[in-house]
Formats: sequence, structure tokens, C-alpha cells
Amino acid sequence: MAKMKVALVPKAGGDFEIVEREIPSPGAGQVRIKVQACGICHSDVLTKEGSWPGLQYPRIPGHEVAGIIDEVGSGVTAWKKGERVGVGWHGGQDNTCPACRAGDFANCVAGAVTGISYDGGYQQFMLAPIEAVAHIPDGLDPADAAPLMCAGITTFNSLRHSGAGPGDLVAVQGIGGLGHLGIQFANKFGYRVAAVGRGPENESLAKKLGAHHYIDSKASNPAQELQKLGFPAPRSFLAASASKAGLPELPAIPKTPCASPPLAAYVRWLRNFLSKGLPKPTPA
Ligand SMILES: [Zn+2]
Ligand SMILES: [Zn+2]
Repeated sequence: MAKMKVALVPKAGGDFEIVEREIPSPGAGQVRIKVQACGICHSDVLTKEGSWPGLQYPRIPGHEVAGIIDEVGSGVTAWKKGERVGVGWHGGQDNTCPACRAGDFANCVAGAVTGISYDGGYQQFMLAPIEAVAHIPDGLDPADAAPLMCAGITTFNSLRHSGAGPGDLVAVQGIGGLGHLGIQFANKFGYRVAAVGRGPENESLAKKLGAHHYIDSKASNPAQELQKLGFPAPRSFLAASASKAGLPELPAIPKTPCASPPLAAYVRWLRNFLSKGLPKPTPA
């Protein structure tokens, strides 16, 4: 039986161990993915430290997975070997509970989380249920695609449902793993983007990523600075940092939800977005 390397957490709070395991075979309704890249998300700390209820060990974290389908299990007809796919935080649903029947798969009562409910992407091959995978478009490097599976969809979806429209002022607090993506999405959505960071060192990066304004929350009062830009009527405030430092104390800011629904709609948008950079097909 062929072997692979995995990076597992042996117990809550334990150090990572790199060990060899047999390459698993996909069960019914599953695909096996040859992992090309896996992002490191702060939420992986839940697996590392055992802070998610019911976690069973050893467990392999990783929910920002990009790879290629390498084998399909029985009953799988919608996916085939060789397809590029990604897996994010949403690791599957039962399709039968009231939430699922309303199309709200992210709130499935039996929903699975990749790298928590089952082994994630810190390994050379992983198994995933078909409802957890989404296509990755050609032309997107796996290392670039992987973080879009969690950090990307979280910021993209929050902004998409914020109610903001082109030209509206949108503030992104935190220029880190989520914020650096949130700024780029917000810019591409046509918003007026105000990035809020701590210290002057993030200004050039924020502006390079598409922020129109930069507010240093150490050197100024972000609430007052945002008001100068058009508050108190911002369309959206994307808190992209776990730290509350620098969060403007403003009333009536519509806080955007951070949700992680199935990836299909997001990837459709992504494909569309990418295709705009490609030559238009010649009319027949
Ligand atoms: Zn994550
Ligand atoms: Zn369900």
C-alpha cells in the first residue's frame, strides 16, 4: 500500500508530528484529493489546542485546501479524476435537516468542519465528501487558490452581503490574512475602501492592494477619521482582525457577518472575475 506524509496533532495542545500513513481510499460519496497547497488559518489553532467540542485525536488540521481529484468513491458522478478542486471550512452537510432543506447548508445541524470533524489538508492526500469540494479555475496557482478557500470566502461573502454598492465607503479593519484579501475584493467591487491598521508600516501594502484611504489607529482616532471620510453612514465595516484594538467605536455600523457557505457561488464569481482578464473569444 502506498504511503504519504501527514502533519497531525496527536492530542489537544500537542506538538505537530509528521508521520507516514497509508494513502486512504475514498468511500461512497467521497473524493480523494492530491493536495497541492494548504493555507494556514488562525482557526487551525482550534484543532491544535483542542478548543472545539468533541474533537477526536489524532487530527490533521487544514481547511484551505487546493488540489487535484486523484480518485473518486462509489456513487460519485459529478466529479472526476484530474479536476482541480478546493475545500474550505465548510466540510459537508447532511442535506436533510431543516437548515439544509432551506438551502442554508452552513447551518446544517450535522455539518462537518474540514480539519476538525475529519482530517484536513496538512497531508499529501485527503478525503472529502463531494458537497465540500468546489472547482478551482484554470490559471489560478494552487498556493494562491488555497487561502481563498477560507480567508477569501469569509471576506468576499461578508462584503457581498453587506448591502454596499459601488462608490460606497467600506472600512476594512486589519491588514492581515483576511484584511489583505478584503481590501482587494472591496476595491474590485467598486467600493471606496478605507483600511484601518495599527501603525504606519501597513500603509503602503494597504494602498498597493487597493485601499483608497489608510487610517493608522495608533496615531489617530479611527472613528473620527472615518467620519471625515463620510461617516456616520458607512455601508459596511469589515472587521478582519481578531483584535479589537483599533475598532472604531461608532454606533449603527452595519457589522458584516463572517460566514462560510458552500464555495460554489464564490468560485463561480471567481471564475468570472478571472475570465475578465483573458482575451475575449472571437465571435463565430
Ligand atoms: Zn479558516
Ligand atoms: Zn443539514
